[in-house]
Amino acid sequence: MKYPKLREIKEAIRALLSKPYTTKFPHQKHIPYPSFRGKPYFYEEDCVGCTACVNVCPTGALSFKDVKSGSGYKRILKVRWDICIECGQCQLHCLTEKGIILSNEFDISVTENREQLFQRIEKELFVCEICE
Ligand code: SF4
Ligand code: SF4
Repeated sequence: MKYPKLREIKEAIRALLSKPYTTKFPHQKHIPYPSFRGKPYFYEEDCVGCTACVNVCPTGALSFKDVKSGSGYKRILKVRWDICIECGQCQLHCLTEKGIILSNEFDISVTENREQLFQRIEKELFVCEICE
């Protein structure tokens, strides 16, 4: 018969006396570590609408569309949280470094319509007077 080593017994006693590593989510609010990467949010005032983030997004969670608005144009940027993998590439490559920032929010559960899991911002576009 094999007996447990002293180190294993020590580890077992320590595990018995310490608090569990798991949390009681969803019954209790879970507070992630400060460095946790969660849902990205656009910050309209710090975003210049360059679309660098859209180009580096590996899942297509970021997209943009240019539409006519009155006498000018506007750019609509959208982030879809249901297909975002929270890799952080958008934040890393953001031109202004603060146009899109990952939060520590992780809960994106919905009961039916996952299409509601997005954020959208609008930026005014300045177009060339000659060629548009
Ligand atoms: S965190 Fe990654 S997957 Fe999510 S929007 Fe940014 S680049 Fe795309
Ligand atoms: S969030 Fe940053 S990278 Fe993305 S469009 Fe805005 S300024 Fe450009």
